[in-house]
Amino acid sequence: MADKIKFAFLLAGGCAGCEMALVDLSEKLVDALEHLEVVFWAPTVADVKYKDLEAMPDGFIDLAFVDGMIRNSENEHMVKVLRAKSKVLVAFGACATLGGIAALGDLHTKAELFDQAYKNTFSTDNPEGVWPQPQCLFEGKYDLTLPSFTSRCATIDQLVDVDYYVGGCPPHHDFVAAAVTAIVSGNLPPKGAWLTSGKAVCDVCKRNPALSDQQRLPVGDVIRTVEGRPDETKCLLQQGYVCFGPVTQGDCNASCLNVNIPCRGCGGPMPGVNDFGARCVTAIASSLKDDATAEKLVDKYNNMAKLVYRYSFSASTLGKKQRPDPQA
Ligand code: SF4
Ligand code: SF4
Ligand code: SF4
Repeated sequence: MADKIKFAFLLAGGCAGCEMALVDLSEKLVDALEHLEVVFWAPTVADVKYKDLEAMPDGFIDLAFVDGMIRNSENEHMVKVLRAKSKVLVAFGACATLGGIAALGDLHTKAELFDQAYKNTFSTDNPEGVWPQPQCLFEGKYDLTLPSFTSRCATIDQLVDVDYYVGGCPPHHDFVAAAVTAIVSGNLPPKGAWLTSGKAVCDVCKRNPALSDQQRLPVGDVIRTVEGRPDETKCLLQQGYVCFGPVTQGDCNASCLNVNIPCRGCGGPMPGVNDFGARCVTAIASSLKDDATAEKLVDKYNNMAKLVYRYSFSASTLGKKQRPDPQA
């Protein structure tokens, strides 16, 4: 037991799908557990509480994964605690590394988000429009508190130092197995690196025209996935469907393309890219045939930021500048 790596996994503001990706390793996880002693992984694997993590000495944990973005005061506090207790911290998944889908909420005010979540949905019965409050007195005697909503979403490395990054929403189980094996064996790249094969989605996509000696031609049309059913054998981008495979890490083995869906970039940018959405724009714009096709693209996608920053708004230059009024 003494030689085992003390391992922790914390869910911050995400959906827990990344934790499921790890649990989905099944027998590979069992093999990895021979080398790991799980000291904190609540509530998915172990019945441990936040106070158990808070009570650990600083640097007690050898390796910690955190999934999810920073979205409230509880996330902020627990990620800071986890960082203090851990020698190596891995931001795991699109939310933790880039902000994830929830970060698109930063394109709206808090009032818009809360009204949508707690008032306007068809399944909500809330005629007085009550929002959850950080503090309230229940039945006149119970002082209840909830985490407060932060003014904007943040990635883990916008709050604390991160040692390694793993992309994906969630990370693909094959690649997770390789990453866990690399970590357990100590076979790691320099601090601050993404754990990735270094291949783009296009590199592992069976539709890549280069694999069948076809030419990539300028794209002369724009079709949204709701408008048509793509040819299942041909490159989606060549057919006019926006696909971010050329600029996205391909550790998912082109999962979406295998089921006839274009890549939306959940794997994160290829190493060295500063602003993923800007790189997506460059990749798509440079593949279009002419100005008329570019105008069609802009007409068909009425919110380009939500397209190109689908998973990466918090990490983007735009996301860092865009701050909804915290008082709104
Ligand atoms: S990256 Fe995706 S699967 Fe993971 S926590 Fe975020 S939304 Fe869930
Ligand atoms: S652009 Fe999309 S469909 Fe075409 S080869 Fe790349 S990943 Fe595959
Ligand atoms: S194809 Fe793109 S969007 Fe789909 S799982 Fe892979 S990286 Fe994510």
